Amino acid sequence: MYNITPISAFNDNYIWLIQSDKGNVVIDPGDAEPVIKFCEKENIIIDHIIITHHHYDHTGGVLGLKKNIRGQVIGPKNSNIAGIDKFVRDGDKFSIIGLSFDVLEVPGHTLDHLAFFASSNKRNILFCGDTIFSGGCGRVFEGTFSQMYDSICKLMDLPKNTEIYCAHEYTYSNLKFALEVEPNNENIKNYINDVEIKSKQNIPTIPTTLESELKINPFLRFNKIELRESMQDKYPNINDASSEKVFEILRQWKDSL
Ligand SMILES: [Zn+2]
Repeated sequence: MYNITPISAFNDNYIWLIQSDKGNVVIDPGDAEPVIKFCEKENIIIDHIIITHHHYDHTGGVLGLKKNIRGQVIGPKNSNIAGIDKFVRDGDKFSIIGLSFDVLEVPGHTLDHLAFFASSNKRNILFCGDTIFSGGCGRVFEGTFSQMYDSICKLMDLPKNTEIYCAHEYTYSNLKFALEVEPNNENIKNYINDVEIKSKQNIPTIPTTLESELKINPFLRFNKIELRESMQDKYPNINDASSEKVFEILRQWKDSL
């Protein structure tokens, strides 16, 4: 048994905290201070830190937290990240606090980007940093569109009930774009209503699930006929495009806004 709690940082980052009876892990602590405050309030000690990629808003708190953790800092090999004790890469597995994690390489947003998947008692959880967001995906900064497409396809192969813990609250603005792409998608309309209610009450819209993202997130819907049909006015040849090309067109469209 374990709980996963968001600790808010900066404007819209979530630092995820997994608490089990065997210990505590934080993922992507961009800032040490909110984590330290939370731990003092809850009277807990962090055992391990997991890092998805080198961006400062995911790593800035590592050194500040590291002196007080009981275990290791686990993350990708990248000279820009100080403080990592255990380097992991695609296909690796490791067990901490009673959970066994699979490491998935998901380059695109950055070249070092990793995602971490764990499965226990039919509950599946994914920490994917800035790869998939609810209703959207990360910008392609360092890799190619093709790499990002492959990374997203890899995550789409996970079980449908996988809970997706991404690192930003971008859901509302992402869904406005999703609705621009598919104005007739009822799932997106309903989801926006839910998100508006949560936002008003300051409730995070994350985690999401793979199952619901497949219905609302254009960046996971490149193979859907409905999506292509609704893009046809803007992109007349879209029906002949490969899934990868549709993904690239969507990403460039959103980048241009
Ligand atoms: Zn990032």
